[in-house]
Amino acid sequence: MAADDIEAFDSVLDAIGGTPLIRLARIAPRVYVKAEFLNPGGSVKDRAALAMVLDAERRGALGPGGLIVEGTSGNTGIGLAIVAAQRGYRLTVVVPDKTSREKTAILRAYGAEVVVTPGAVPREDPGHVRRAAARIAAERGGWLADQYDNPANPAAHRETTGPEIWRQTRGRITHFVAGIGTGGTVSGAGAYLKEASGGRVRVIGADPEHSVYSGGDGSPYLVESIGHYRHPDTREDLWPRSYHRDVVDHVEAVGDRESILTAQRLAREEGLLLGASAGTAVAAALKVAAGPDDLVVVVVPDSGRSYLSKYYDDDWLGPLGLPVGQPGEATVADVLGPLPPPAPGLPLTASVGEALTLADRHPGGTLWPVGPRASGPPSVAEVTGALDVGELRLLVRAGAARTADPIAGYVTGPLPAIGIGESRPAAAARLGTHPAAWIVVDGRVAGSVHKGQL
Ligand code: PMP
Repeated sequence: MAADDIEAFDSVLDAIGGTPLIRLARIAPRVYVKAEFLNPGGSVKDRAALAMVLDAERRGALGPGGLIVEGTSGNTGIGLAIVAAQRGYRLTVVVPDKTSREKTAILRAYGAEVVVTPGAVPREDPGHVRRAAARIAAERGGWLADQYDNPANPAAHRETTGPEIWRQTRGRITHFVAGIGTGGTVSGAGAYLKEASGGRVRVIGADPEHSVYSGGDGSPYLVESIGHYRHPDTREDLWPRSYHRDVVDHVEAVGDRESILTAQRLAREEGLLLGASAGTAVAAALKVAAGPDDLVVVVVPDSGRSYLSKYYDDDWLGPLGLPVGQPGEATVADVLGPLPPPAPGLPLTASVGEALTLADRHPGGTLWPVGPRASGPPSVAEVTGALDVGELRLLVRAGAARTADPIAGYVTGPLPAIGIGESRPAAAARLGTHPAAWIVVDGRVAGSVHKGQL
């Protein structure tokens, strides 16, 4: 207990919330960011973590020395780890494999048990992050925090984030922008700001392009911790109950490239080192805020320190076909020149005839990406094999393949991925002894390259 005359918080838990608003003085002076990376656990999720634990204690769902279990993209786990340390709980977190290694390292540093599970699986799969967490909680008699469906998550933002923003802007806020993960932030703070303003404040959800929240097909995207992925084999796609769609006036989709470039720009031009979900939210804010009387508040959920190995690392960006620093040598784009329009993905269930008909409509490369979805261009994360349609056509002509055959028998294994902006030597090194590689632009297969071409 801090002595009365000491200017100090009683514990780290009292340092959660009360974050400053910071104007984007150089990039967009009417836009203010709510600096959630200044929470003790480094993210907005400290608020929800504390609120969920206090609520569980009040309800008697979590007893002294108990076990907390949660499925999380990392930040909620970090928030829970802080609360667990202070209040004497053990913590097990289940994180999808897309989670940055910095976040899993932080979780372990706080003493949490970290279980990594594949992120790109159907909702019904026992390994799905939410299912795995629920199973571990049931097996070990732990309390599942369940930020996705726990009303204490949006309530935390209705009670703290929303009122703070209203006070800080003296009620002059016109637009509120937040990324949608569980939806807790946008729903809770958005609802408060709508009520306080008599419905005047416009609430905007920021979402990665391809995420289902903004109407995408649910195929993979690169920004972690927001959006909603949907595996093609998911039968019933449940959205989190923490996301209250009626509160949100508009959901803005932002591409991965724009999110990441916006985050990089905020570091270089504003001195704000942030995660890519902050880039998504700020990019969405820059699109919606037009009027001279607008006062836009954007939640920037966490720091770029958690993603130094991703959005700020050329070795991660390059193979995904995202911009890297000046290579100083010829790039893959320089060598290949303009690419033909990208082919859509070819589902493994297609027949030889269907594949050839589709290929006729998309002249260009003869190597086709095969994966679970027919939409395109397909995410490189989902491409499982390659089909050489040129060779297949020859086989059909020679009578060695029939149009009714499934393509599965003609699909070859995975190919390496080469980013369009990588230097030619880096790309050639990755190609190695493979006969061909995918050309990747913004994480999606945009074509293929054969060994002799590089
Ligand atoms: N950005 C980051 C970095 C996050 O960790 C989260 C939480 N998943 C969000 C945004 C989205 O917040 P919410 O869950 O409240 O929608």
